[in-house]
Amino acid sequence: MDEEDEAARILREVFGYPQFRGEQRQIVAHLIAGGDALVLMPTGGGKSLCYQIPALARDGMGVVVSPLIALMQDQVAALREAGVRAAALNSAMSWPQVQETERRARAGELDLLYVAPERLLTERCLSLLDRCRLALVAIDEAHCVSQWGHDFRPEYLQLAVLADRYQSVPRIALTATADIATRKEMIERLRLRDPRVFVASFDRPNIRYRIAEKDTPRRQLLRFIREEHPGESGIVYCLSRASVEDTAAQLAREGIDALPYHAGLDSGTREDNQRRFIRDDGIVMVATIAFGMGIDKPDVRFVAHLDLPKSIEGYYQETGRAGRDGLPADAWMVYGLQDVVQQRRMIDQSEASAEYKRVATAKLDALLGLCETTQCRRVRLLDYFGEDSAPCGNCDNCLERPQEWDGTVAAQKLLSCIARCRSATGFGFGAQHVIDILRGNRTAKVEQFGHEGLSTFGIGADLEVAQWRSVLRQLVMLRLVEVDTERYSVLRLTAASREVLRGERAIWLRRAVDRDAVRPASRRPVDRTRVTAAQAARVLSDGSVPAADDGTHLALFETLRAWRLQVAREHGVPAYTVFHDATLEEIARRRPGSTAELRAVSGVGAVKLERYGPAVLDLVQGAQPGVTPAPAP
Ligand code: ADP
Ligand code: ZN
Repeated sequence: MDEEDEAARILREVFGYPQFRGEQRQIVAHLIAGGDALVLMPTGGGKSLCYQIPALARDGMGVVVSPLIALMQDQVAALREAGVRAAALNSAMSWPQVQETERRARAGELDLLYVAPERLLTERCLSLLDRCRLALVAIDEAHCVSQWGHDFRPEYLQLAVLADRYQSVPRIALTATADIATRKEMIERLRLRDPRVFVASFDRPNIRYRIAEKDTPRRQLLRFIREEHPGESGIVYCLSRASVEDTAAQLAREGIDALPYHAGLDSGTREDNQRRFIRDDGIVMVATIAFGMGIDKPDVRFVAHLDLPKSIEGYYQETGRAGRDGLPADAWMVYGLQDVVQQRRMIDQSEASAEYKRVATAKLDALLGLCETTQCRRVRLLDYFGEDSAPCGNCDNCLERPQEWDGTVAAQKLLSCIARCRSATGFGFGAQHVIDILRGNRTAKVEQFGHEGLSTFGIGADLEVAQWRSVLRQLVMLRLVEVDTERYSVLRLTAASREVLRGERAIWLRRAVDRDAVRPASRRPVDRTRVTAAQAARVLSDGSVPAADDGTHLALFETLRAWRLQVAREHGVPAYTVFHDATLEEIARRRPGSTAELRAVSGVGAVKLERYGPAVLDLVQGAQPGVTPAPAP
C-alpha cells in the first residue's frame, strides 16, 4: 500500500472523514516522506490532521508542542475517543501520571504526545525523547516565536534545539497568522530545513459577517442571541474587564448561560469558566481578547463584538473561532462613534513610538474601512490578506446592499454648524448639542447660548437624529471632524474639512440600514435552508446539497445532542469529542438504518462506530418521520 493510500485509510478509518480538506493530502504526504513544513491555515482549517495522520502513518511517536496546558487535555480526550493512543505531559498532572506517561512513551505505546514548550525543553523530557522513536515534531501556534506579535513566548525561541537534536525527524510548524514577516521568522527561528510552505485560502465561507451600527448595544446583543442563537455556544468580546462583567451579568439575568473571562479574574475561576464553555453545550463566554487562543471548540455558533477590535488581523482571528465545524456561524459586530474615538485615543495616549502609532493608526483605519464599506465584507477581508475573491453572498452587505448617498450637503451643514457654534461662543460643543441645533430643537442649552439665532439652526430638520449620528460618525472616520476627548468630547473641524465646506470634495456616505431586516444566518445548526446551495455544497463534507428540513430532522438532531451530552458527562470529556454537531446533523438528515450506512457518515470512525453505533441506530429508529420522537434521556 503506498503512503497516500495509507493516509486516506487513516483519515477514513480513524477519523471517519471521507476526504481530505484543502491541501491536507499534500501536507500529510510531504511529512510522511520526511520533509519539514510550514502550514498557514485559518482557524478551523483543519491543521491538526496535518500532523496527526503522519504521526500515525510513520513509525514511532509524534510529539506535539502546544502552548496551552489547559487545552491539551481536551485534544488528548478527542483523540482517545477516536481510538488513538494519545497522552500529554504537563504540570497539571500528578507524579504517578507523569511516570506512567513516560513509561508508555519509552515502551512505544503512544502515537501522539502533547507537551508544553517549557516542559519539552527540560533535560528530563529531552532525554526521554532521546530514548523514543520519533515520528515527527509538530509545533502548534508557531507564530509565538515572533517577538513582534502579541502572542510572543520566549520558550518558543529555544525550540530550535530540536533541529540539531533530532536531525532526521521531520518537523511541521503550524499557525493561523497570515502575514509574510511572521512566516519568515518562523522558518528562521525554528530552523526548519528547506521547508515546504503551505498557505491555505483564508476564506471561511460558512461564517456570515455582519457589522451594524451601535444603538443600544446590550439590547442589540440580547436580541441577536435570543432570536438567532438560543441555547447555542458563542463568544462575546468586550474591550474592558468592567464591560465583560456587566455584560455577562446582564445576559445571565436575562436567562442566558453566560460566563465572564478576563485576565483580572483569578486563575481558578478563569479555568472553570473556560472548562464549562468547552465542555457544556450552549454557554456564552463574555470575554476580553485574553480569551480564545488554542480554543478549538468546533461548535461555536457565533462570535459577537460589542467593541471594535484594534485591527483586521484581530477581528479575523477572533471571528475565526466561530464555526470551525464548517456549519453556518455568525460574526456579528456593532460599532459606533464612541468606538472610533476610544480606539484613536488609546493610540494617541499610548507611550509607544511614533512609528508604532503610525502602524496602529493605519491598522485601525483599515478596520474602520471594513465597517463602513458598502461592498462585500469578505472581499474586503480577503483582500487585506492578499487574496482575490468575488462577492460572497453570505455577508450583510451582499444579502442587503446598503445604499450610498451623496452626503456632501449634509456634511457641509454639519461642519458649518460645528464651526458656527464654536465661533459664536468661543468654545466647542458635543454631538448632541450640534445635532439639536441642526434639527432646530430649542433645548435649554440651545437657549442658554442663544444658538437658536445661528444661521445653521434648523437647517437639518430633514434628517433624523440617528441619521445625523451616522453622518457624524462617518465624518469622524474620514477625519473631517475631530472629537476632543480631553475636553468633554467637543467637536472640531480639521484641516481637511475646509475642502468640503468650499465644495471641493464630494462626500458619499453609507445609508444607515436597519440590520434587523437582514435575515439571521443560522438559527440552528441544522437549519440550512438559509444557506445558499453553493455554500452548503462547500460546507457539507460529502458535497451533497442538503434536503429541506422536515421537522423530524430537527427533533432527531436534538435527541442525538441530548444523548451526546449524557455520554460526554459519563466519560468526563467535552461533548464535541463524542461526535461533532456536523456529524449529528448528518445522521439526523440521512437516518442511517444499518451499521454500514452509519459508517458512511462523515466523522464516524471505526472506534466510534463500535462504541456508539448501536445506541445511535436505536435513537434513529425511534424517531420515524411524522412521529414525534420520545423525549431524550
Ligand atoms: P485548526 O486547528 O486549523 O483550527 P482543526 O484541526 O481543529 O482546525 O479542525 C477544525 C475542524 O475541522 C475539526 O473539527 C476537525 O475535526 C474538522 N476537520 C478537519 N479536517 C477535516 C476533513 N478532512 N474532513 C472533515 N472534517 C475535518
Ligand atoms: Zn459578501
